[in-house]
Amino acid sequence: MSRSLGPVQVLHDAPLAPLTTFRLGGPATRLLTATTDAEVIAAVREADESGTPLLVIGGGSNLVIGDKGFDGTALRIATRGVELRGTTLELAAGEVWTDAVARTVEAGLAGIECLAGIPGSAGATPVQNVGAYGQEVSSTITEVTVYDRRAGETVTLADEECAFSYRHSRFKADPERYVVLRVRFELEDAGGMSAPVKYAEAARALGVDPGDRVPLADARETVLKLRAGKGMVLDAEDHDTWSAGSFFTNPILTDERFAAFRARVRERLGDGVEPPAYPAGQGRTKTSAAWLIDRAGFTKGYGTGPARISTKHTLALTNRGDATTEDLLALAREVVAGVREAFGVTLVNEPVTVAVSL
Ligand SMILES: Cc1cc2nc3c(=O)[nH]c(=O)nc-3n(C[C@H](O)[C@H](O)[C@H](O)COP(=O)(O)OP(=O)(O)OC[C@H]3O[C@@H](n4cnc5c(N)ncnc54)[C@H](O)[C@@H]3O)c2cc1C
Repeated sequence: MSRSLGPVQVLHDAPLAPLTTFRLGGPATRLLTATTDAEVIAAVREADESGTPLLVIGGGSNLVIGDKGFDGTALRIATRGVELRGTTLELAAGEVWTDAVARTVEAGLAGIECLAGIPGSAGATPVQNVGAYGQEVSSTITEVTVYDRRAGETVTLADEECAFSYRHSRFKADPERYVVLRVRFELEDAGGMSAPVKYAEAARALGVDPGDRVPLADARETVLKLRAGKGMVLDAEDHDTWSAGSFFTNPILTDERFAAFRARVRERLGDGVEPPAYPAGQGRTKTSAAWLIDRAGFTKGYGTGPARISTKHTLALTNRGDATTEDLLALAREVVAGVREAFGVTLVNEPVTVAVSL
């Protein structure tokens, strides 16, 4: 049943599964859809003043919602607005991210072309500092305008105030506090060329060396092709994409923990085996969650139930069509336990869990 509460669309006992890329989760007590910043703020204020729990939803591509649903107000951000002035791009939070990337490539601007194909909304990109193929939004974001629920006002935060790190930010650290309204990016006019290609796999596919620039459209298309081969571009017909992309973040270990992990790998897999290792700042090393999962015996397509590992990418857990959130979490817990048992490393989920936990 739906009724109108001012201009904000309101639905009661509304199913949330269709709003997520997993297609999982029970209903929300109330689902509001806001199409302007004023509507977003009014809806958030109303929930906060009445002490109702609030769940902000963009494209639902990084959400795991419990089977019992969400006892509170779910607020869908459906605001629109793209402003491109010179090399400055400003996006309303509800803008579709992939469309925005395509638009910048068409306009000949570099900086987010390798983030093509990532589902979801522009407003969610600063939340987990979205990244892929050598680019992260934190490199181009200059400002994020948010409604600060604690202060009860709209504020604009400069990039250095956003505490961006690998798949993390101030917004993810304090999820009850900020609702992103607008995001501003500073892009580069490199005469139609991309930013230097950092990611080795992308450089290889483009036939260049890491650090080279390529025509923007080539960078975007190559990334889209690489992503599609891994089930990382949404396709309703392909269950490998009924996912949240990578389900686990790549573990970042202190040097001491990395040394212990490396010894464990050699003990288990043989002296010649080296785990992937990437520098991750002073005294820290990042390793690969996909490698850990695969080497612990959870290979592509693993599972016999309705939730399985993608047949195209070890890091994506997927709904094969009739899974429940509990099926998905059971698989996730099995993977976490198996990797911990094999290598002593505890994987952490990347998607946000709602009314459930791993
Ligand atoms: C096939 C596939 C591939 C993917 N590949 C990548 C990838 O390469 N790199 C990557 O980083 N991610 C990837 N993801 C994850 C996901 O697409 C991103 O995290 C995306 O930014 C989520 O956007 P969303 O609008 O769908 O957020 P949602 O799933 O709707 O929400 C995610 C979180 O952000 C919060 N949120 C959403 N909008 C706002 C807002 N306006 N203000 C405050 N909080 C908000 C939500 O409350 C929730 O906590 C992938 C997902 C899928 C399904």
